[in-house]
Amino acid sequence: MTPSRPAPVAPARLKDPVTRLRGVGSQLTERLARLDICCIQDLLFHLPARYEDRTRITPIGSLRPGASAVIEGTVLAADVVFGRRRSFLCRVQDGSGTVSLRLFHFSNAQRNQLAPGTRVRCFGEARSGATGLELYHPEYRVIGSVAAPLADRLTPVYPVTEGVSQQRLRSLCSQALGLIDAREGDSPGQHSDDLDADIVAALKLLHGPTPEVSLAALEAGSHPAQQLLAMDELLAHQLSLLRARRRMQDMTARSLPLTDDLLERFRQALPFPLTRAQDRVIGELAADLARAVPMLRLLQGDVGSGKTVVAAAAALIAAGSGTQAALMAPTELLAEQHARTLGPWLEPLGLGTALITGRQRVAQRREQEERVASGAATLVIGTHALFQGGVDFNDLALVIIDEQHRFGVHQRLALRAKGEQAGQVPHQLVMTATPIPRTLAMSAYADLELSVLDELPPGRTPVTTVVVAEERRLEVIERVSAACRVGRQAYWVCTLIEESEALEAQAAEDTAKLLGEELTDLRIGLVHGRLKSDEKARVMADFEAGHIDLLVATTVIEVGVNVPNASLMVIENAERLGLAQLHQLRGRVGRGATASHCVLLYQPPLSRSGRERLRVMRESNDGFVIAEKDLELRGPGELLGTRQTGLVDLRVADLVRDRHLLPEVQARAQTLLSEDSAQAERIIDRWLGSRTQYAHA
Ligand code: ADP
Ligand code: MG
Repeated sequence: MTPSRPAPVAPARLKDPVTRLRGVGSQLTERLARLDICCIQDLLFHLPARYEDRTRITPIGSLRPGASAVIEGTVLAADVVFGRRRSFLCRVQDGSGTVSLRLFHFSNAQRNQLAPGTRVRCFGEARSGATGLELYHPEYRVIGSVAAPLADRLTPVYPVTEGVSQQRLRSLCSQALGLIDAREGDSPGQHSDDLDADIVAALKLLHGPTPEVSLAALEAGSHPAQQLLAMDELLAHQLSLLRARRRMQDMTARSLPLTDDLLERFRQALPFPLTRAQDRVIGELAADLARAVPMLRLLQGDVGSGKTVVAAAAALIAAGSGTQAALMAPTELLAEQHARTLGPWLEPLGLGTALITGRQRVAQRREQEERVASGAATLVIGTHALFQGGVDFNDLALVIIDEQHRFGVHQRLALRAKGEQAGQVPHQLVMTATPIPRTLAMSAYADLELSVLDELPPGRTPVTTVVVAEERRLEVIERVSAACRVGRQAYWVCTLIEESEALEAQAAEDTAKLLGEELTDLRIGLVHGRLKSDEKARVMADFEAGHIDLLVATTVIEVGVNVPNASLMVIENAERLGLAQLHQLRGRVGRGATASHCVLLYQPPLSRSGRERLRVMRESNDGFVIAEKDLELRGPGELLGTRQTGLVDLRVADLVRDRHLLPEVQARAQTLLSEDSAQAERIIDRWLGSRTQYAHA
């Protein structure tokens, strides 16, 4: 596809709106905005997700299942067939073999057109079907006396949205490329928004690769043009986080010096001494909080390392200066548990708490909001409802975010913006149990300082993990019964692949019923995302108090839940879960002094990666080791999800595949921001400029 040259125009600027292009009216403008495409530059950086090779004809005999190809041949036979579904089947032959075209929707005109003897050219994906290799609904064209020329470039396939076709995007992108071509005649340096020549060359190549470009390299993301742009894109993300951090450092925050003995009294009242790691981290926080610059600190600590105590200590430091702290948790279950844990720690010291969640009854919510507004509550615990309308803080000086990996980077930045008042912002502490390898952490959290809790409280016995096939379920049930008979408690976790809360809840209900029939002498509780929040809270409180022996649950208990007497966990369909999630779940046991066990139940046969994941779980309890393995097993091409890193929506770069670029990205970002901030802004703008979620960054 050759970019068509536009009629003579005034030199286009990268930031010119898309309406500058032919055929773009208000309706299309709106639709393009859904793809975050607002200006010419956005189109240039809207890169193909993949490519189709329509530059050559593949002999039918060398078609492979799963591959898309252009074929050309003669129709041998064409019939309507009546299988499970009526379809029109058309056998096509060239010198090398035959293949079937299958159409489930077809018109009489099509039947007439594809009569035996007709020569056709088709493009489609070959799949194994009832008659051997078949092309379902291929694009096809009857060949007349002269065949149309083949494409001279690989055909880009763009991410699209409803109402904007592939064809449309291809034509818009080539118009946009034509505009930057037209600019090349201008004298250089005329435009402050010029793109570097190497970037322009890479963009051109990726929007329409010539046939010599290796499709395999493009698919692997290893083509030099992709690597160049990946570098630029990662740089843009890094720069935007560093910029956010610098902006914060230009703001002021309340200085919260360690003045009175609150912290000391808290320490005395705790039923255990702090670990050295906890002490060290509290020291780091105290030093940050004493400054009139907003603290931005990430606390990483494996599951069970005791982050909650550290959060309480930070809240106490804020209370010492008469200010409020807020603690935000990703689930209601966890927010409620924090309220139950922290209340009894803080109230004896004369400090009130409040709880704000989305599903509270109106009256209850009002009452809690009162306590927040009047300052009666020093520590306000809640879900993200904390930062939605209605909650008015009296004097908020510190925001603590628990299990940060559950929130995206944008939520974190937005939250920061929300707490801002007259140039003053609250200090921020974010806590996560998901250990990320260091280079990645430096990218995903470039705007934060790092503290690590690298020590577990003493007296923990490591969890012993066993992997058991589903056939031996009865033995596992027997094991649960034995543990509960001697006063231990257990979890039974039901999981599904579908991300459907309703189905998962149903599975948990069914399992609870079946287990109830087997284990008649046990008190069985059930908790899942579909329960009302007070019901959930009641079940959890009963489990904590030991009134429930076996808790059947969905993955809602994945994060944060802390019941030290629970020493056995059974996870169903464990082979379907990722390592990070399995590690989080397993972290619910091994919290007391008794030896704990985790049973990973799986449905045979295991895939290779499934077997490997279960093996890693059996062999290691160390979150950092598991995280490294996780990264390795996911391999190239599979992005770390939002939940892992907070970095989303990379267009060309892939955090795992391209992590060798990260050290250079980090170094270049630092230099650019100090030495050429105009260029830094341009880089951020071309990758993130029109993306709404970055508006507050
Ligand atoms: P996480 O880091 O996973 O959030 P928690 O804060 O829930 O961990 O702590 C896990 C358990 O360890 C809790 O029961 C907590 O009371 C206990 N704990 C925390 N610190 C210590 C300590 N220094 N010594 C003994 N137990 C501790
Ligand atoms: Mg926790």
